Amino acid sequence: MRPTWAEIRLDRLVENYFAVKQYVGDAVQVMAVLKADAYGHGAVEAALCLERHGADQFGVALVEEGCQLRQAGVGLPILCLGGFWQRQQAQECLELDLTPTVYHIDMLKILEEVALKAGRKLAYHLKVDTGMGRLGVRPEQLTSLLDYAVTCRAAVLEGVYTHFAAADEPERDQETAAQIRCYEACLKLIEQRLGRVCYRHLSNSAGLHRWPRARGNMVRTGGLIYGLWRDVLAPSPPPPAVKPVLSLHSRIILIKEVPAGTPLGYGATFVTKHRSLIATIPIGYDDGWRRACSNNSRVIVRQRYAPVVGRVSMDLTLLDVTDIPGVKIGDEVVLIGEMGDVSITAEEVAGNIDTISYEITCGISKRVPRVYKTGSTR
Ligand SMILES: *Cc1c(COP(=O)(O)O)cnc(C)c1O
Repeated sequence: MRPTWAEIRLDRLVENYFAVKQYVGDAVQVMAVLKADAYGHGAVEAALCLERHGADQFGVALVEEGCQLRQAGVGLPILCLGGFWQRQQAQECLELDLTPTVYHIDMLKILEEVALKAGRKLAYHLKVDTGMGRLGVRPEQLTSLLDYAVTCRAAVLEGVYTHFAAADEPERDQETAAQIRCYEACLKLIEQRLGRVCYRHLSNSAGLHRWPRARGNMVRTGGLIYGLWRDVLAPSPPPPAVKPVLSLHSRIILIKEVPAGTPLGYGATFVTKHRSLIATIPIGYDDGWRRACSNNSRVIVRQRYAPVVGRVSMDLTLLDVTDIPGVKIGDEVVLIGEMGDVSITAEEVAGNIDTISYEITCGISKRVPRVYKTGSTR
């Protein structure tokens, strides 16, 4: 096996989850959001581990993702945040006990029909669009949806939620406050028609951090449980104490000494200025180590930073290791993570290439094996 891997610290995932739980207090449930294969960390492993340690609920984007978790033996409630696509997926929700999201009256009609036919109840969450402009029923459409919802006998409203567009941006606090007011007004209307709603939730990581009054009785968090927060949360108040769960590793497979003036990699975008030691590592953009990192990023070798030189190619990356004493073939390289006192966060890598940490961890491809660790032993 080529020496490139991602290490997933499940112990930290659990610690982070409970750091968030403590942060929001006992009255609020914490839904761990495991969509996109748990932001690249591995949804099945994350879910089984969190369930074993007493997590409350899970959220996924797709019905397919929910099915994968059920097939792996996950028993906790799973909310499908992205809704469901047509009757087939409504049927799957019913059969696998996944909770669908409804954001259009026609979806509710399908759920009611599918559940009636099966002679069973099917719980759903209703999503309202309070200002994100993405999924959700617009407040103006709510009344007609509720007129139908009150007639349903098999589809049962179990939750009402919304999603913030900019909860991490203090300069847009007014818009977030307006979203909260809009949600509260919608919830009031819904409860007048359908009675007390079991789960009332608004906040993602950024929201639960900055908007304590918008926690309802559940929050949905992804970023924080993976220890991603530097580009997720507003600068204040202090964040919950969470630590990165994922680290990305490789090893040096070749070192060469080259004279000044040596071009490196495709397009010769880097030319050595002096005699240099250049190392090759077997990771490239097909692994999710992005091409935009070319000449633009650093990694850790022997507890020191080494710059990425030349273009990152599909399978390989070059490093300037001239200043790393004792460097040799086989040395471990940390691209994201810690080595001794030195660290590189996913947020740093994201910042170098003008994206966010979520895209970095989600982007680490399936070609990179995940190695799961449950203790602090290394
Ligand atoms: C992804 C997602 C979340 C989690 O967002 P984080 O920023 O990772 O906390 C919460 N709610 C919905 C609807 C989502 O799609």
